[in-house]
Amino acid sequence: MTVKIILAGPRGKMGSEAIKMIHNEQKFQLVACIDKKNNTKADFNHLEETPIYYDAEQCFSEVSADVYIDLTIPEIGFPNTKLALKHNLRAVVGTSGFTEENIQELTRIANENATGCIIAPNFALGAVLMMLFSKMAATYFPDVEIIEKHHDNKLDAPSGTATKTVEMIQQTRESKQQGHPDEYEILPGARGAQNDGIRIHSMRLPGLVAHQEVIFGGQSQLLTIKHDSFNRESFMDGLKLAVNEVLELETLIYGLENVMDIN
Ligand code: NAP
Repeated sequence: MTVKIILAGPRGKMGSEAIKMIHNEQKFQLVACIDKKNNTKADFNHLEETPIYYDAEQCFSEVSADVYIDLTIPEIGFPNTKLALKHNLRAVVGTSGFTEENIQELTRIANENATGCIIAPNFALGAVLMMLFSKMAATYFPDVEIIEKHHDNKLDAPSGTATKTVEMIQQTRESKQQGHPDEYEILPGARGAQNDGIRIHSMRLPGLVAHQEVIFGGQSQLLTIKHDSFNRESFMDGLKLAVNEVLELETLIYGLENVMDIN
């Protein structure tokens, strides 16, 4: 079976890598793109033969497809994913920055339309394993801080991966306030952001791609779980997996770990 794909964000760094992956995968076919600059044909990423749409509604009405991939920004990705699901088009979302309310609303629409959707804060399989290992470790090491490091073009902070890591750790860690009860910041933000007592530190520098360390502190010991994505190719195995898995779904799944064979 050929899997027909519509991709939003074809000019982006992730979108460009996704186009290569789709072209290299024999059973995938790119049938259209949604791009904010074009409304006809594109002169980039070897897309001369691919119809390019500005308007998502028009694209979903005119093009027959199996999966919509969104690699844009949440302000575009959220309404477009809603629209895709309403058109009974399955969706794979890599765009980060969706709120909990966004995810709840998409879950409702996916269920109402019996149309699968996968939202993955991180497609790198190693990063998903880092989150799972962190969840395991938090049972024994409830004192934990996260350092996430990304390129300086990233708009949102903390990263979707850091937020998701906290959510997974919360499944095994008892809520607690960390550090000294009387600690204070001389410079606001010195201790980083906080979620359930877990500190998240976001670094943005040129040269970085996507990196995260989850550091657990215990009696006379530290456990560090670390993952590095050195380029966007590292996300493509997971994106490919998500496209294949979403074809079997009639609901929304948040997190690639929920479709990986890891038990
Ligand atoms: P990027 O290079 O900045 O690409 C963003 C894309 O969104 C571009 O194609 C951009 O088009 C498009 N865009 C921006 N505003 C738009 C609008 N108003 N209408 C339509 N398209 C619009 O970023 P990236 O590194 O590829 O990342 C894309 C998304 O994936 C981000 O949300 C990022 O956080 C996320 N991400 C996810 C993973 C994962 O594993 N899940 C990994 C890396 C990144 P123009 O080029 O024309 O501006």
